[in-house]
Amino acid sequence: MKKIFAPWLWFFLLWPRIITAEEAPPKRWEIIAVGDIMLGRGVSKTIERHGPGYPLAKMPLVTDSCQVLCGNLESVISSEEFKSQSPYRFKADPVVADNILKQNGFGFLSVANNHAYDCGPSGLEESLGILDSLRIPYSGILEIPKKEAGAERVVDSSAGKKTCRPAYMKIGDVRVCFLAFCQPYLLNPNNENNIIAPADSTTICNSIQAVKDSCQVIITSFHWGFEYHHQPSKAQKYLGRLAIRAGAGIVLGHHPHVLQGIELYKDGVIAYSLGNFIFDQRDSLANQSAVLHMIMKGSQLDSLWLEPIEIRAKRPTTVNKSKLNQFKRLIDELNLKLKTSSRIIEDRLYLF
Ligand SMILES: [Zn+2]
Repeated sequence: MKKIFAPWLWFFLLWPRIITAEEAPPKRWEIIAVGDIMLGRGVSKTIERHGPGYPLAKMPLVTDSCQVLCGNLESVISSEEFKSQSPYRFKADPVVADNILKQNGFGFLSVANNHAYDCGPSGLEESLGILDSLRIPYSGILEIPKKEAGAERVVDSSAGKKTCRPAYMKIGDVRVCFLAFCQPYLLNPNNENNIIAPADSTTICNSIQAVKDSCQVIITSFHWGFEYHHQPSKAQKYLGRLAIRAGAGIVLGHHPHVLQGIELYKDGVIAYSLGNFIFDQRDSLANQSAVLHMIMKGSQLDSLWLEPIEIRAKRPTTVNKSKLNQFKRLIDELNLKLKTSSRIIEDRLYLF
């Protein structure tokens, strides 16, 4: 027998759905931060063998438009053949950059690091051109002031101010800015034409000041500190806190290749070192790393949690939940002096 819905049921089915205030989508979004991404040397050899999807096959990343993924690109992207005996010349193929960086939704990349000039000025220029063509926002290069006709005659109070060229992104109503710096001692002192933004107090403050009024969230990225040191240096603490006081909300650090602590300073967060993300190092501590998730509500940081990862066979891999307590002990030790505590809530390690 044919079933017909009762007339009162049709009334409910056809009545336009009223969305209440409670049901409106929450204005929450997420900043996801990873450490060093090195797509050359051993990683590129593995990609040649297993295909371009290999490095992130075991690590699902961005899944929607409310997530911004940030990282430090520790290799130049170039199609040129550079003959070098140095094992520290990191160069990635443009196809790999497209597959790994673009296809996996990298939002902001820092290019301010000690490997920016691994293939010379032309390598850096090609690399930046490729990021531009892939439409991946990046930062870490000094702003080159445009000379206008007759500008020499105008007395400009900002003349001589060095600033980092910002990258922008809009998430809903929130305009987000990204600025990246590298500690000067990591750059070649003989390179007089260096265009990488130095992490010195003046450049940091000038750069933040220049973008402050045009965005609601400022993310800063720093290549700093010392390799394999688990505690941040005095300079890292000074510069990170300075960036927050100048107006940044988030400070993301890298270069030590191992994890360092996370400090909740004033209303901001300083991740002193996020370790490696894609790398080919053998050291076991350099292969024990994390992904930082920052949940934002409008332009404010709402909560943050750390996801443990392990780098196995040169690629990041999610860690079994049974190892979360062990990971908590490691993070608590790193955070002890920074007075940041942690708690596991629903299989996530939240920081307070
Ligand atoms: Zn480095």
